Amino acid sequence: MSTRESNTKAEERWRGLGVSDGVAAGQVLRIHTGARSVYRATLTEIEIERELQRFREAVESSRKQLEEIKERTGKELGAKHAYIFDAHLLMLDDRSLIQATETYIRQEHTNAEWAVRVVTDRLLVAYAQIKDDYLRERSADVEDVVRRILTALGGESFLKRHLTEDSVIVAEELLPSAIAELDFAHVRAFASDAGGWTSHAAIIARGLGIPAVVGLRDLHRRARTGDSIVVDAGTGLVVLHPSPATFKQFDVREARPALSNGAITTGETEAQPARTLDGVEIALRANVELRAEYEGVRHYGAQGIGLYRSEFLWSLHNGIPSEDDQVKAYTEVVALAGAAGATIRLFDLGGDKAGLAETDAERNPALGLRAIRFCLQHEEVLRRQIRACLRAAGTGMSVPLKVVLPMVSDITDVRRARRIINEECERLKAEGATCGEVKIGAMIEVPSAVLTAHALAREVDFFSLGTNDLVQYMLAVDRGNDDVAAWFRSLHPAVLRSIDYTLTAARAAAIPAVVCGEMASSPAYAFVLIGLGARDLSMTAAAIPRVRRMISGIHAERARQIAAECLQCETADDSEELVRTRLGEEWPQLFPPETLPTAKEMDRI
Ligand code: PEP
Ligand code: MG
Repeated sequence: MSTRESNTKAEERWRGLGVSDGVAAGQVLRIHTGARSVYRATLTEIEIERELQRFREAVESSRKQLEEIKERTGKELGAKHAYIFDAHLLMLDDRSLIQATETYIRQEHTNAEWAVRVVTDRLLVAYAQIKDDYLRERSADVEDVVRRILTALGGESFLKRHLTEDSVIVAEELLPSAIAELDFAHVRAFASDAGGWTSHAAIIARGLGIPAVVGLRDLHRRARTGDSIVVDAGTGLVVLHPSPATFKQFDVREARPALSNGAITTGETEAQPARTLDGVEIALRANVELRAEYEGVRHYGAQGIGLYRSEFLWSLHNGIPSEDDQVKAYTEVVALAGAAGATIRLFDLGGDKAGLAETDAERNPALGLRAIRFCLQHEEVLRRQIRACLRAAGTGMSVPLKVVLPMVSDITDVRRARRIINEECERLKAEGATCGEVKIGAMIEVPSAVLTAHALAREVDFFSLGTNDLVQYMLAVDRGNDDVAAWFRSLHPAVLRSIDYTLTAARAAAIPAVVCGEMASSPAYAFVLIGLGARDLSMTAAAIPRVRRMISGIHAERARQIAAECLQCETADDSEELVRTRLGEEWPQLFPPETLPTAKEMDRI
């Protein structure tokens, strides 16, 4: 924090949406996730050399990635499939791309991302005029290589080399691919232009206790790496170049709280379910995506892993992880889960989780080739993951392993996946490999899955209610777009009726249903979920103690009555008001005002 006192730039303030707690100060580490448009930034003379260095590092990192991918592809698919990466590697030595970019940075004094974009656009115009079809089509390769360089400009090698003791990550949008590469020991805070309460960066920030503010519009464009910054997640305020006087006003946290704060430590004993005052047991499980979160699983008393977001492995392995790497990862998750078992979600790629440099951008990714659709379309990817799950289930640990299919929108999705699971099981047995039993579940996240829940329940062993996506798709509100955050209403009657309908279908078919979206981690929303009949909740591990505390202070029967009232509401305003008044008045000690839904400032009719 040495730069703060000597800061001479004028203070600038932003107000965004705080998605976790705490205040932190540090130095900006500006990363580019390749998610949004590239902005132009003008650099001073002394910043040029650093920018050139940054660009060269990104090119070298891209080269390393391509060499690794080429080697892996050669081993797995044969040399003739690996040759396309030679073309990409050659482009990294192409003067018209690399040297031209460096010259542009020097002459125009711009940031590397902008220079790459301008030079590439010129190159693509030249390609478009080529008569030869084959050569003209190489423009797709140029685009691909450029996307890789742009990602690398904010990617692993850059992060590893530039992360300081007090880094505040500033991004346009924090994608899972970038988050997975961070060393959280050095991350003080996150601040991003886009994002919402249920963005994955927000979920992880809450899980690890890192202050985070999203929806900051143009902070990324204005901030420079090394600038001093304060992030207050409680109020959503972000101050760039804070004056010493401003700095003093913040209650800055120097280090993240140790895990022991308020937690229930279970040690080696298995965690117990929470119990309401009228004796209803509620299982509390953990959602995990990164190693950094594993410590919290036992520590906070989770009953196993209710959701393992396996797609984060793609970021760690720079693409599809090998079968053996997956077996290792899933075996670790199973060991961590203990007797209560683990649920591995098949790769939920696409949508806001895109991290595939090789995939063309979709016009409407949330409605595109996402999740189970991606898996079914790329059958070799699905088969590899299934084999890894079956092998991990057969490791002799006698811990139940479940596999859940993300974003099922039709029963056929389940039937196709089940057929592939059965085929891979037979193949493994024929190869003499161990193959364990897995239960197969469907994530209920889209309206069509809700409305066919009774039939779907007869085809699967369990349901997982992904309320983050359910709210997104039921209300047609992009979960990562802060412009529509006011329409993202988890207590909207349509959402509550969908949850009620799904839980009723699960009970009728006598299959378990776990609610694993962010709603489960908020005591007020968890109360409503329990009232709707949920008996199994999975959440970021750090939230378990507060949800457990809430459950042990309420009667499930009273929750049922209040949830029934919510189901009768006509608007989200009404159901939120009802929850605010009932919970706030009946249990003020369990639900202090800051834990209740706030009155929204939308225009009322
Ligand atoms: C959800 O959609 O609620 C969910 C649990 O999955 P994700 O947040 O990873 O989409
Ligand atoms: Mg989801």
